[in-house]
Amino acid sequence: MPAPLSVSDRERAILAPYAMFSDESAGRKHPQEEHAFRSPFQRDRDRIVHASAWRRLSGKMQVFTGDRGDYHRTRLTHTMEVASIARTIGRALRLNEDLIEALALLHDLGHPPFGHAGEDALAECLAAHGGFSHNRHALTIVEELELRYPEYPGLNLTREVLSGQETRIDKRGAAVPLLEVQVVETADSITYDAHDTDDAVKLGLVKLEEFASVPLAGDVMRQVREHYGPLSADMLRKTVVRELIDRQVVDVIAATTERLAATRPASAAAACRAGWTLGISEELAHDKRALEAFLYQRVYRHAELLRVRSDAQRQLKRLFARLQERPREMPEPYQRRAEQVGLPRAVGDYIAGMTDRFCEAQYERLA
Ligand code: MG
Repeated sequence: MPAPLSVSDRERAILAPYAMFSDESAGRKHPQEEHAFRSPFQRDRDRIVHASAWRRLSGKMQVFTGDRGDYHRTRLTHTMEVASIARTIGRALRLNEDLIEALALLHDLGHPPFGHAGEDALAECLAAHGGFSHNRHALTIVEELELRYPEYPGLNLTREVLSGQETRIDKRGAAVPLLEVQVVETADSITYDAHDTDDAVKLGLVKLEEFASVPLAGDVMRQVREHYGPLSADMLRKTVVRELIDRQVVDVIAATTERLAATRPASAAAACRAGWTLGISEELAHDKRALEAFLYQRVYRHAELLRVRSDAQRQLKRLFARLQERPREMPEPYQRRAEQVGLPRAVGDYIAGMTDRFCEAQYERLA
């Protein structure tokens, strides 16, 4: 049997010099001995997957609610798609895949029920108490709300994973984050552009033909037709969506490889100071923005989605008010939390953890 390779030896053998090596991690708030065969970032990834908040992602909407059937993405499947695309990019660039996966699985963990509609409603409810952001809430979950260890609250994740998530909160003036963090950010946008196109067409909000005149999607559609000839509408949609992802992933890897070759960063820190950020090429980015503008107008602002949005916001605000009047309707940990962080914040944290259906059920029960 071959001798097992230590985590450090394995990373030194595989990763590029500009990757984040786990033996250079700044560690955890509560120091812990290293695991015999899992890297620190791999443990972070596993801790997130075992968290209760993680499991509830399956009941949280991405763009479409469960009323529309079971075809479309949930917050969970979106997250898995982001992780897989991010890992593809990270592996090709020889970055730390364990760190990438942990960051990807964490990135939307703080989403409240009903997606951005829910987030905006909670932000309004908490306007006088520090507001609400799903990105910040992900940190509250992994640092305070998840109670899985006898010694401390939270998951005690590495500082690299926590600070990677912090960079999502306020990007203004912030230092350039690790390449692994930038990969996840880029993969997130590749993922939602592609799957929102897929879901919107499949659910009949937009016809695939309408994308023909939209940059990026239109180019991809022409290329698919040239290559395959006539396809059924269903197969055309699937092929276009797959090619849409592939074109962007190939572009990011090529653009980044060029920048890496030109600047040759010798460490993860040097890559952050190299004067560029990871992403798709400017030419493709231009087309991608046009696709996003189309999705915004035709999908996210679709009358049906706006109706779902206002219903969700009305429910969530009403539930928030009700729970403030009757805090004993909350589970005990949140009643205790109210003593530490104040009632409004504790109610917000409780609601933010709900799935869409549980939120609706609580609204029916209390409103
Ligand atoms: Mg996301």
